[in-house]
Amino acid sequence: MFLKGKSVIITGSTSGIGLAYAKAFAAEGASVVINGFGDEGEIEKERAALAETSGATALYDAADMTKPDEIEAMVKRCHDEIGGPDIVIANAGIQHVAKIEDFPPEKFEAILDINMKSAWYLFRAAVPHMKEKGWGRIISTASAHSLIASPNKTAYIMAKHGIAGLTKTLALETATDGITVNCISPGYVWTPLVENQIPDTMKSRGMTREQVMNDVLLAAQPTKEFVMPDEVAALAIFLCRDEAKAITGANYSIDGGWTAA
Ligand code: NAD
Repeated sequence: MFLKGKSVIITGSTSGIGLAYAKAFAAEGASVVINGFGDEGEIEKERAALAETSGATALYDAADMTKPDEIEAMVKRCHDEIGGPDIVIANAGIQHVAKIEDFPPEKFEAILDINMKSAWYLFRAAVPHMKEKGWGRIISTASAHSLIASPNKTAYIMAKHGIAGLTKTLALETATDGITVNCISPGYVWTPLVENQIPDTMKSRGMTREQVMNDVLLAAQPTKEFVMPDEVAALAIFLCRDEAKAITGANYSIDGGWTAA
């Protein structure tokens, strides 16, 4: 439990990779702030389970990642109620798959807000608290799409390349402050986000479900297996160890060999 006494905010942690981060950080004793949408009862169950696992406070904050003032208020609440934040993970994300001429502008704006701009507001609010302590860990869930492109995902790929740029820039800005800034770039991870884009891809490419699974999703992943959320979380935990203090400004692929091809 090497994170006892530390607090972590994880955006978009009511589901998928974010929830896996929350469980892994709680297992190391951290006070976890979870965030995201979903069924109130289910979220409360998760929050209570995290508190039990960590033996520390676990909070749920409903901040909407399209609203900078709510992001700032979440960081302030964490600071006032449990201290820190010592660690922040920008993870909330949505996807929409369509050709540019069919891409609804409101989806484009939402993807940039949630997947990219929210990270900037989160980090902006958290960095002063980290500088005060002389210790901090800043992590984003980027994507293989922060490094390479695929058709019909203009907004997502713009946002993820933005996260890669933010990571490098903020790493330089905080390099002498005891803070590291890194991003993790998964290939296809088996979560609701992937499952939910199957129907859109079927429509935009005129394919069956099986064709999308084998010829689109896993076509790019040489291992022919989805990455699992707890494997992504294990990498984030490593980045918080003292042994990882020299790792900053890095973009870690965890993609079954996708970007090696
Ligand atoms: P998911 O759909 O399971 O989880 C997304 C989370 O974001 C949920 O908790 C949801 O409530 C939250 N969220 C959505 N809109 C929000 C908003 N406006 N404000 C606050 N929270 C909001 O998805 P996931 O697959 O776990 O994705 C998590 C991150 O990982 C995303 O940034 C995604 O781009 C990235 N990623 C996923 C994969 C994959 O294959 N699943 C691959 C690479 C990168």
